[in-house]
Parts: sequence; structure tokens; C-alpha cells
Amino acid sequence: AHPGAYIKHHIRTVPDWPAPGVQFRDITPLLSNPKVFRVLIDMFVHRYFDAKPTAIAGLDARGFIIGSVLAYELNVGFVPIRKKGKLPFTTVEETYELEYGSATVEIHTDAVKPGDRVVLIDDLIATGGTMMAGRKLLQRLGAEVIEGACIVDLPELGGSDKLRASGLPLFTLVSFE
Ligand code: 5GP
Repeated sequence: AHPGAYIKHHIRTVPDWPAPGVQFRDITPLLSNPKVFRVLIDMFVHRYFDAKPTAIAGLDARGFIIGSVLAYELNVGFVPIRKKGKLPFTTVEETYELEYGSATVEIHTDAVKPGDRVVLIDDLIATGGTMMAGRKLLQRLGAEVIEGACIVDLPELGGSDKLRASGLPLFTLVSFE
């Protein structure tokens, strides 16, 4: 079977969480099954082995899980982009709009530098706001974001189209219509 279909089969959909009407796509079954976890990570390793990024940046918090293992396998460093208030050193931040309210993400100012070629990874793209903000942080520090990567795309929410239209190539394994 297509590896994306194998991955999709192991994503759990939780109805009405965290709010009524939301179908939450739960990736924890991909992590707890060692065979599935390996297939998952290997798909990203194969995608980026030849591209030779200089770093992997992961979005808080599920992007840390897959991003750190990917960075380890590619023998490059891992950079966390965190929700505001968690990073101890000097940071730059980006605020973006959510359906209700806003969110702010931060990166350490020495996390990447001009000339770095970074893959930005998260578990899921919905409206694309989180990945867009992460990309801006990396760009503000002078890095080039060579691609955004995620396990799940929710294309109906328009985030992946918006990101691609803004010039960010995307690699996504699974989509839920
Ligand atoms: P966006 O900023 O694209 O609207 O939302 C994506 C962010 O919200 C990601 O960091 C992702 O982890 C989280 N997120 C939103 N909905 C879901 C979902 O159904 N499943 C998972 N696993 N994460 C979600």
C-alpha cells in the first residue's frame, strides 16, 4: 500500500475535541507503535537526505517529537520554535491570529544564522498560521526555509494553499478532506 495510506490508517480521529464540532486528528498512535514510528520518520529522512538542510526547526509541541528524531537521523541540529514564555535566552517573536484570539511563538536569536537552509516541521497544518509564523521567525534571523513539512494537511482549511502561494514549498504525508 502507499506509505501515506499506511500512516493515515494509524491516525486516530477524536470527535468533538477540544470543542464541539472539531474532529481532532490524533497522531499519538503513530508514535507508540515502533514500526509505524519508524516508517513515519523514514519518510521524512528520505525526503531530506539529499537536500542536506543545515538544521531542522520544529513547532511546539508535536513538531519537536518528529523534528528532533529527523534532525538526529540527518546529523544536523534541532531548533525549537516555542510558545511564548518558554525560551530562556534572547528571543524574537511573531504573533498571529487564531479563530478566537491570537498566539505568539518565539525562537532564540542564535538558533539559526544567515546561510542556514532549514526544514520547518510540525504534525499538522490547519489554517497555516503556526507554520507561517515559524517561517517568518527563521527568515528574520536570515535563514532560508527550504520546505515546510508535516504529517497531516487539512486542505479545506486553506492553510497549505496559503503557504504554497506565499512561496513556501510543502511536503505533507496525509490529507483529511
Ligand atoms: P494552524 O496554525 O495551521 O491553524 O494549526 C496547526 C497547529 O495546531 C499545529 O501546531 C497543530 O499541532 C495544531 N492542531 C490543530 N488542529 C489539530 C488536529 O486536529 N490535530 C493535531 N494533531 N494538531 C492540531
